[in-house]
Amino acid sequence: MKFDAIIVHYDEIGLKGKNRGSFERLLIRNIEAKLKGLIDGCVRESGQITVMFSKDADKVKGALSCIPGIAYFSFALKAKLDYDSIKKVVIDTLKGKRFKSFKVNAVRHNKDFKLNSMELNSKLGEEVVKAYKKKVKMKEADVIVKVEVSNKYAYISLEDVKGVGGLPTNPQQKVVALLSGGFDSPVAAYLMMKRGCEVILVHFHNKNQASSSVEDKIMKLAEQLSKYQVKTKLYIVPFEKLQKEIIMKVNSKLRMLVYRRFMLKIASKVAELNKAKFLVVGDSLSQVASQTFENLEVTYTGLDKHVLSPLIGLDKKEIIEVAKRIGTYEISAMPYGDCCSYFLAKHPALRADVKVLRENESLFDVDKLVEDAIKKAKLEEK
Ligand code: ATP
Ligand code: MG
Repeated sequence: MKFDAIIVHYDEIGLKGKNRGSFERLLIRNIEAKLKGLIDGCVRESGQITVMFSKDADKVKGALSCIPGIAYFSFALKAKLDYDSIKKVVIDTLKGKRFKSFKVNAVRHNKDFKLNSMELNSKLGEEVVKAYKKKVKMKEADVIVKVEVSNKYAYISLEDVKGVGGLPTNPQQKVVALLSGGFDSPVAAYLMMKRGCEVILVHFHNKNQASSSVEDKIMKLAEQLSKYQVKTKLYIVPFEKLQKEIIMKVNSKLRMLVYRRFMLKIASKVAELNKAKFLVVGDSLSQVASQTFENLEVTYTGLDKHVLSPLIGLDKKEIIEVAKRIGTYEISAMPYGDCCSYFLAKHPALRADVKVLRENESLFDVDKLVEDAIKKAKLEEK
């Protein structure tokens, strides 16, 4: 079937009171940017956004189902704003469809239309019974015919497609996410996008240790994550020189924590350069030795930027569920060696002492090393 429009619904934006308009404009801006060339425009109507489109329904569907801020959407046919036109489209929409029971669910956004929702439900319901000899069922009907009466047209649709939910990504809310090749950090980055942040990705790479497939994997992860926001920057930061110095100077029990501290310091600099406000990591409390209660405290304190850990209270199983849903699971499952795992002790420190860790850090010219790493970073934009 050929459709005229897509009706986009949001839920949380609807709760924003006076700020609702700015959220709606942001969502429209994001939809227009992600569907450039595929749609003919968006119109803001009461409680919904109507997307006009004329081609490539599958592509449009795929893109819309990844845009944060959209709760669900439906492909619709439009009818002129009079009862007979609406009736005709309702009957046409159901032509050839197999179902036993149905219900009509009308919403009158445009209060100037003379029939109210209840009247539309019962009158259109009677027409469908007459035309197709089907039963009305209020609960668990096979088909729900949605009729949305808006300002210019009425829209008739049958199925809702689930969206990401959350809030539209906002370039004024930038964060920098540390992206490893594992399962966790892509999910952490996605969750921040879902809550309305523009996420800049940073990956640390030791070219002497890692095979070239690691970089390929990171590019694939960034590509997948880029579906959920308008603009994606990925910094690939060389880590070999720094890592070599850390291996020389720091006891193997503490190395992981020092690696991570340097990563966070470099990421803070990336944040400063991009006017980003927070750092984001894929830590989950007590998942591994570097993420014990005590080690997280010494890792996060005294940085130029605050660290957010959106997975902190999630179990691995829950993280994997999200990874599967957002399409990063298969990419993360590809074999790789993260540079974080080189030259570590079999039994790393579980409760590092903040004083000892800072003493270790004082053996480095931190500012110079951070500056150096930033200079050599490679930037990819999607
Ligand atoms: P993940 O799936 O995120 O790799 P993990 O359980 O393997 O999780 P760690 O290796 O301890 O966790 O890393 C914790 C966090 O540190 C990661 O989620 C990520 O945010 C960051 N991190 C680790 N290694 C790198 C890297 N090479 N580049 C960028 N960030 C990294
Ligand atoms: Mg990891």
